[in-house]
Amino acid sequence: MATPTKTETTTAQRSTNGSPVEAGARSFEVRNPATGAVISTRPAHGPADVAAAAQRARAAQPAWEALGHAGRHQWLGLWRDWILENLEPITDLLQAESGKVRQEAAAEPPLVCDAINYYGRTSAEFLADERISAHNPLLKGKSLKLLYRPFGLVGIISPWNFPLLLSLGDAIPALAAGCSVVIKPSELTPLAALELARGWTEEVGGPGVIEMVTGAGEPAQALIDEVDFVQFTGSAVTAKKVMSRAAETLTPISFELGGKDPMLVLDDADPVRAANGAAWGGLANSGQICLSVERVYVAEQVYDEFLAALVDRVRSLRQGLDEPHFTNEIGAMTNPAQIEIVEDHVADAVARGARVLTGGRRREGPGDFYEPTVLVDVDHGMKVMRDETFGPVIPVMKVPSVDEAVRLANDSDYGLAASVWGQKGRAEEVARRLEVGAANINDVLLNYIAFSIPMGGWKQSGIGVRWGAPGIRKFCRTESLVITRLAATKTEPMWFPYSRAKSTVLSTLTRLVTARGLRGRLGLGPRR
Ligand code: NAD
Repeated sequence: MATPTKTETTTAQRSTNGSPVEAGARSFEVRNPATGAVISTRPAHGPADVAAAAQRARAAQPAWEALGHAGRHQWLGLWRDWILENLEPITDLLQAESGKVRQEAAAEPPLVCDAINYYGRTSAEFLADERISAHNPLLKGKSLKLLYRPFGLVGIISPWNFPLLLSLGDAIPALAAGCSVVIKPSELTPLAALELARGWTEEVGGPGVIEMVTGAGEPAQALIDEVDFVQFTGSAVTAKKVMSRAAETLTPISFELGGKDPMLVLDDADPVRAANGAAWGGLANSGQICLSVERVYVAEQVYDEFLAALVDRVRSLRQGLDEPHFTNEIGAMTNPAQIEIVEDHVADAVARGARVLTGGRRREGPGDFYEPTVLVDVDHGMKVMRDETFGPVIPVMKVPSVDEAVRLANDSDYGLAASVWGQKGRAEEVARRLEVGAANINDVLLNYIAFSIPMGGWKQSGIGVRWGAPGIRKFCRTESLVITRLAATKTEPMWFPYSRAKSTVLSTLTRLVTARGLRGRLGLGPRR
């Protein structure tokens, strides 16, 4: 069985460019993927609309920056309170446009509030001027400071799987840093984000530092031309288009991209806890999470017990339109195009010898649903083990050793996150060998909401990080200040005029500072 080459793997990655927005259209429809019903029509903005939005946001930025951390947090706190007072209607919109089950839709708005609180507590500390000591005694007369100064205008381009967290959630550190933002949410799920932005402007009366533009690739590309920094979350395929457009203006970018996250179950793991973790990590949000468990490697000693528990748990899950709320665990596929990718991966795996233990097909009836699926007898020659599936499919592979599990986990173009299950110390040792931006030990997905530690991907999973101190500093340029403590003399030794005597003194001083050992300081060279 041939292993796909790197090029084949890359072309097999996909984006939602087969989007519902026709080229040149002035508007587009938003559907409820759990019912198929059209729930809204929104304008498809063109470059002129984007330029106007950028101009408004840019004009509002200096006054926003001048408010300082406390002043900005006061506004963001008012917005948090408004969001918390309106959780139900916001969640209704989010659920309708994404097809998520209620519990999953309801989790997002409070997480945006949590991000507001986190950066409200920390932004002043993370962006405080840093006093830095001079590395060389010849610079002792200077004081050195590092300043973090907001970029100005940030463009945020976001995907459909977490419509609030990846749009306004990513805007929080930018706003806290003193930037203004223009957000281009996914054309599949713009409604909840638009409602939060409306709340900021109309209900809270916040300054004009949050602008929204809607549509697909056209406004996103136009946005890149207008802003000082681009925060993009989406597929690697689209990221390359973002990067090449940003290259034209040398605009800096930060990318949070796809994953093929491995789960490693060691021989000393609790196989039932690991199986329940795999079910949740692989199937929550119908598997449409960048950090979803996308492949599982299980030690042969615990394989049978793990697999039995996993299949039991997956077969017990209820799927469908979550009305009344909390009757189902598995929702719809938000992007109809995604179901075709999932079908293709499962068909390819089966054609190459995999077995479907449960699920394995699109669900009949209204709405876009794919049955939660467990595959075994899989190998790395299959798309389902190499390309991002982004659907409710858990492929499981038995492995003979930890070394083989690590080798297979690292055999990927992606490196977003992983999970390791087993005795804590040993699992940590294994996690240290993985080529990933984050590893969860005896749990899954959680690193996303651990805001105090950065999240970012290796390889084709991203460039840069979100959260923690780096997650706000990235929205700033640094400025280094070198301040002369005492400027009492008319000139300095290094300044004009030059002379042999001055040069000798300066080079002697430099040698005294840089050389090591007496011979070096005396200029005698190494002993032969
Ligand atoms: P996508 O790349 O298709 O679209 C992302 C955004 O880019 C959308 O707003 C889209 O309209 C816009 N876009 C489309 N064409 C564009 C162009 N030519 N130039 C600029 N922007 C353009 O991704 P998606 O299908 O919406 O999202 C799913 C992907 O996102 C998956 O790969 C998933 O793993 C990834 N993701 C990553 C993270 C993370 O934090 N690492 C989080 C969530 C999702």
